[in-house]
Amino acid sequence: MACRICSGRLHPFADFGRQPLSDAFVAPGDPGEEFSFHLAAGVCENCSMAQLLEEVPRERMFHAGYPYLSSGSSVMREHFGNLAERLLATELAGPDPFVVELGCNDGAMLSVVAGAGVRHLGVEPSGGVADLAAARGVRVRKDFFEADTAAAVLAEDGPADVVYAANTLCHIPYLDSIMAGVDALLRPGGVFVFEDPYLGDIVERASFDQIYDEHFYFFTATSVRAMARRHGFELVDVERLPVHGGEVRYTLARRGARTPAPAVAGLLAAEEAAALCDPATLRGFAARVAHNRDRLVTLLGALREEGARVYGYGATAKSATVLTYCGIGPELVSLVTDTTPAKQGRLTPGSHIPVRGPEAFADPYPDYALLLAWNHAEEIMAKEAGFGRAGGTWILYVPEVHLVRA
Ligand SMILES: [Zn+2]
Repeated sequence: MACRICSGRLHPFADFGRQPLSDAFVAPGDPGEEFSFHLAAGVCENCSMAQLLEEVPRERMFHAGYPYLSSGSSVMREHFGNLAERLLATELAGPDPFVVELGCNDGAMLSVVAGAGVRHLGVEPSGGVADLAAARGVRVRKDFFEADTAAAVLAEDGPADVVYAANTLCHIPYLDSIMAGVDALLRPGGVFVFEDPYLGDIVERASFDQIYDEHFYFFTATSVRAMARRHGFELVDVERLPVHGGEVRYTLARRGARTPAPAVAGLLAAEEAAALCDPATLRGFAARVAHNRDRLVTLLGALREEGARVYGYGATAKSATVLTYCGIGPELVSLVTDTTPAKQGRLTPGSHIPVRGPEAFADPYPDYALLLAWNHAEEIMAKEAGFGRAGGTWILYVPEVHLVRA
């Protein structure tokens, strides 16, 4: 097994067995064979990049029916709105600025840029969400981004001041082509800004469900700096973000174009002190995850013995790893509620638990709710105050299995 970035040797550190595609919800009665792949992760001994060992073809994941919406949570809408305002006030404050977003989804960020009348382009291969962005006034190109796409955009629109990507770059195994495209498209002093789940938070919180088909890379400042340097870029800023269970926003500029902010050296030093990219550290993380899996399965088995009713809350992409890895099916969790219409009336991939709309959660409330969307815990618990009044209890499994009386 060789690193997708540098061809260095990979040290496997976590193995979740065969897994379905995280967003391939199954129609009831569908006799078709489900696609599955081997979900396991390793870390490169040369460039320190943590990554999946098996790659799922991109067209199987990012297509017209891709169900995730960036604007689905009020916290995320505010997050992207704030970033758009900041970019407009800083990097996009010059004459006739131009920003390109890779994987713009439903336009949570670019709709704010569009509202300000600033030139922009979203490159989005998933047709359904691209249409939603277009309906909000965002200029969208339905395509995967790589070197060829960048050349076409450059020819039509000229160089970009900012290339931005949120929860997109970690989805893309072929980063060489992405970096070549960014290099072609960015003006000399421009920046490439991207934010993705942070390996440091995944290890600290034992949030193993961040590992699923769509998340190919698990970035650190150490591995992003090494990757950037291979392409003539330098890591010039990092910012830790509380969203999606802990992310880092990385800013790359061409080498020598900008002085790195002190935060870069700070995060690099913290990663070194924690031996974050060391295979032994990552195997320790996997051992804690296995322990948590056993505790969760034991708890759900005991609740079934008691006759308690347990629902899942949020048929998230990340829940596929939890349900499949733990072997949780409808006998332990009788249904999962979710706000995404495309998932409702279907079965969770692999584990085949029925998915219902949010109204099913209160009709009547279950005794326990397994919070599969734990990264939105605060927002959800506030919204579902009635569950607490009805005597309900939340089950969380990050950073370890524990109960929260609602
Ligand atoms: Zn490598």
